[in-house]
Amino acid sequence: MLQIENVKLGLEEDENLLAKKAAKLLHIPQEELLKTEVFRRSVDARDGVRFVYTLRAAVRDEQKILRHKNRNVSRVSETPYRLPASVTPPELPPVVVGAGPAGLFCALALARCGTRPVLLERGRDVERRREDVERFWTAGELDLTSNVQFGEGGAGAFSDGKLNTGTRDRRHRFILETLALHGAPESILWDAKPHVGTDYLRRVLISLRRELQELGCEIRFGHRLAGLERQNGRLTALQIESAAGRYRLPCENAVLALGNSARDTFEMLYASGVPMEPKPLAVGVRIEHRQSEIDLAQYRQYAGHPRLPASGYKLSCHLDNGRGVFSFCVCPGGTVVAAASEQNRAVTNGMSLYARDGENCNGGLLVSAAPKDFPGSGPLSGIAFQRGLEERAYFAGGGGYIAPAQRVEDFLLHRPSAGPGSVVPTYRPGVRWRDLWDVLPDFVSESIAAALPLLEKKVRGYAAPDAVLTAVETRSSCPLRLLRDEQGQSALHGLWPCGEGAGYAGGIMSAAADGLRLAEGILERY
Ligand SMILES: Cc1cc2nc3c(=O)[nH]c(=O)nc-3n(C[C@H](O)[C@H](O)[C@H](O)COP(=O)(O)OP(=O)(O)OC[C@H]3O[C@@H](n4cnc5c(N)ncnc54)[C@H](O)[C@@H]3O)c2cc1C
Repeated sequence: MLQIENVKLGLEEDENLLAKKAAKLLHIPQEELLKTEVFRRSVDARDGVRFVYTLRAAVRDEQKILRHKNRNVSRVSETPYRLPASVTPPELPPVVVGAGPAGLFCALALARCGTRPVLLERGRDVERRREDVERFWTAGELDLTSNVQFGEGGAGAFSDGKLNTGTRDRRHRFILETLALHGAPESILWDAKPHVGTDYLRRVLISLRRELQELGCEIRFGHRLAGLERQNGRLTALQIESAAGRYRLPCENAVLALGNSARDTFEMLYASGVPMEPKPLAVGVRIEHRQSEIDLAQYRQYAGHPRLPASGYKLSCHLDNGRGVFSFCVCPGGTVVAAASEQNRAVTNGMSLYARDGENCNGGLLVSAAPKDFPGSGPLSGIAFQRGLEERAYFAGGGGYIAPAQRVEDFLLHRPSAGPGSVVPTYRPGVRWRDLWDVLPDFVSESIAAALPLLEKKVRGYAAPDAVLTAVETRSSCPLRLLRDEQGQSALHGLWPCGEGAGYAGGIMSAAADGLRLAEGILERY
């Protein structure tokens, strides 16, 4: 099989032309091309707008073609990722705590390899969770066990479901194929910037749950890890809290796939002496634009073409004050969402449906923060910093999880907005117009104000007067890292810190890949 890169199609050209173009690139008659398939497709908007394909092709004579040494043509050499061999079910099944991407993929690998794991999740199944979250967004009633951070699917369940990642890992293809097998759109297999959309994610989660249960994985929703038991430096049991009360779960291997919002659990782990350290993070606001304006900036005269997807952006700059300011988790055609998981603390994030057809585009606009910015010291100081920001945002909003917001023009002039301009904020349950300089720490406001004109130079309209800033975004990553060895085990043997909450992943794909990695480590022990 050959890989052919850089095959280009104009906006008006049909994909039927790909085989012809590939044959031309390989200098062979089209009949010698036995089969072609699209491996990846991206949109190149740098000079005009076109689609750029990577194709996989079977040809009559590979050697002959490779002798031409065309830099766009190579032999496919990667070996697909395979799970380890199955094992005899251990007497004490492994326990996975957390049903986010890390925990789900860890449990899936453990289950497919025959260990019959137990999966504990403090939140509810995705069907009931959806109702809980909808109630929060409409009435401002926060459910502490079932919300945007907690429940089946983890933090990514109400998201844009972006699956691109800055890291390379041979497990990624396996993850994409598993998601597609469970109902994610086929496009995630070839889109260079794949995304599932929150609507498809829910279906995927239900189907994945069915496979896990069929493989003998016992899933317990509404069960929260609340304590650890150990003997001679080894884990012996977990203390679990559920609606029926507290119970003891004997256990030799437990994967902690807790996500970045399990603050009570981090406090318990710290008190139990589990080694951890503080970690830098980034905080800021969501910035919202009209999608049509972002499309215009990115696609110019081609904006609005029916074959072009809603566009996003990826921006960053480094300021003289030493801070990095960058865009994060951009949701084209999406909405800003209330993502709190603690009482009287407001948090924002973003999500989209697969169609990405909403009026606005929103993205995080974040400023780097280091442990020196946190109050106090120690591994939990980052959590105290996040909580402080979330409380200020909550009270600035006037309660009920209303978020403080401001037009960019007013932010730059230090005055509260009187109301929206052309960009109507999508955050529910609603926004209150405030001066965000009174809400955010000075270094965050100053950095955002300095970065806006710089980022405007990269995407025209980014700092448009009517763009809306909504505060506060604090949960972009985990403020601490649970230490682990090369194999993934904590100094407390039998404990396997995993995914974003442990500080080893950032995003759905890398968290899922980390889940697989730790399952491999545990399976090796069996
Ligand atoms: C609104 C939103 C949109 C996002 N959009 C994207 C995106 O488009 N693309 C992307 O790559 N990333 C996105 N992210 C980030 C992404 O969701 C996370 O990086 C990812 O979910 C981390 O996976 P995880 O499994 O490590 O943790 P999580 O997904 O956070 O899962 C952890 C799970 O553990 C459970 N848990 C915690 N403590 C306990 C306990 N004591 N006992 C039992 N269970 C417990 C939680 O309830 C949770 O379900 C988004 C996040 C949010 C909030």
